[in-house]
Amino acid sequence: MEVRRTVPVKLDVASDDAALLCETVDEFLWAANYVVDHAWQGEYKTTSKAQLQEETYDDVREQTRLHANLVQNARNKAADAVQGVVARWKQGEYAGKPHFSQPTAVYDKRCATFHDKYVSLATVDGRIEVDYVLPDEDRDTPHSRYLDNDDYEVTGAELHTKDGEWFLYFRTKAEMEFDAPEQATTGHSTVLGVDLGVNQLAVTSTGTFWSDDEFDHWRREYEERRGSLQQCGSRHAHENIQAVGRKEMGRFKMMLHRIANGIIEEAAENGCTVIAFEELTGIRDRLSSASWGHKWAFERLYEYVEYKAELHGIDVGQVVPENTSRRCSHCGFTHPDNRDGEDFECLKCGYENHADYNAAKNIGLRYLRRNQTGSGGGAPVGVRLNRGMLNANGEYDPPAGHSG
Ligand SMILES: [Zn+2]
Repeated sequence: MEVRRTVPVKLDVASDDAALLCETVDEFLWAANYVVDHAWQGEYKTTSKAQLQEETYDDVREQTRLHANLVQNARNKAADAVQGVVARWKQGEYAGKPHFSQPTAVYDKRCATFHDKYVSLATVDGRIEVDYVLPDEDRDTPHSRYLDNDDYEVTGAELHTKDGEWFLYFRTKAEMEFDAPEQATTGHSTVLGVDLGVNQLAVTSTGTFWSDDEFDHWRREYEERRGSLQQCGSRHAHENIQAVGRKEMGRFKMMLHRIANGIIEEAAENGCTVIAFEELTGIRDRLSSASWGHKWAFERLYEYVEYKAELHGIDVGQVVPENTSRRCSHCGFTHPDNRDGEDFECLKCGYENHADYNAAKNIGLRYLRRNQTGSGGGAPVGVRLNRGMLNANGEYDPPAGHSG
C-alpha cells in the first residue's frame, strides 16, 4: 500500500530571494487563473489538460517569466480545479468558478532540486538556493522521519508564504506494509497524540500533518452559500440550509474519512494502542479562527476515528486541552509567548518546533499521565514520536539501536 505524507519545512529566505519568490508566486497564480479563465469560456468548460496545454501554454510563456514546468504545474492546478467543479455539477451540486488567491506555487523535480539541507527552486529569474530551517537536534521532527528516510521519496513540494515567512510542504510517498509495522516496539502500548487545528486540520505526535487547503475551499464555499440562504430569512431557512448542505456535506465527509483512515494507519504503523485527542467542548473558543464548519469537522473526524479504531482494537480518548499549545513538550515550561502562530519556541529551554506538532506531543503526554494509575498490563508506557518515545516523566527514549 502506498503511503503519502505532507511534511512542512520552514525556509530561511534572504530578502532578495524573497522578492523573487513573491514575483514567482504572483506569476504562478496569474498563470493558473489565466488557464481557468480560458477553460471557462463558452458553455462547455475545457477540462482536458492536453487541450488546455495546447491552447494556453504559449500565451502564458509569453506573458510570464515562469519556468516551463511551473507553467505546466499552474495549468495542472487550474485543470484539476475545473475538473472538480464539473464533477460536482454532474452530481447536481453547486460550485462556482475556481479562483486562486492563496500565495502558493507547485514545484516538482523538474523545477526544483530537493537536497538534504536546502532546495534549489526555479524563479522568474533563474534558480535560487534556499536553506531549510532545521532544528538543532533532528531526533523528533516531522521531516526527520519522512525527509531523511530512504523509504520515503519526495515527489514534489508546494511553496507557501504567510506573514512574510516561507514554507515548503513536501509531498512524500512510500510503499508500506501495515501488517508488519517496522516501529512496533517492545509490546508495551503507546499513545498517539493528535492535535486539531485550523491551518493543519490534524497533526500527530509522530509528525504527520493533514493541511486544511482542500477542506478550506469547500468550507468557505459552503458557508457563503449557507449565509446567503440565511439572509433570506424564511421560516424554512433551516430546512433549506439542510437540503443544500446534504450534498456538499458528502464531500467534506469523504475527506474526513480519508484523514481518519490516515490517523488509524499512523497508529497501526507505530504500534499505538491509544489515540488521544483534546476534548472538543469549547474548541471554537480556544481556536479563535475556527468557524462552525471546523467544529463540525472535528466532531465528525473524532467520531470516524473512534469507530474505525474499534475495528483495529485501538482505544480513543480525550484529554483536557488546557495549555497544550502553550506548554513546552520538551521541558514543561508553559507560557503564552512560547507560541507565535505556527512556530513554537520555548522561552525557557529554547526547544523549537511546529506549534501543532508540539501540541500533539503534549496531548499524548497528558493522556499518558492520566492513565498511568492502572497498573494492569494495559496502561500505556509512552507517547509515540516520529523516532523513539516520550515516557510519562516527559523524558525522551530513543528507539533501540539509536543513540540520541
Ligand atoms: Zn522548554
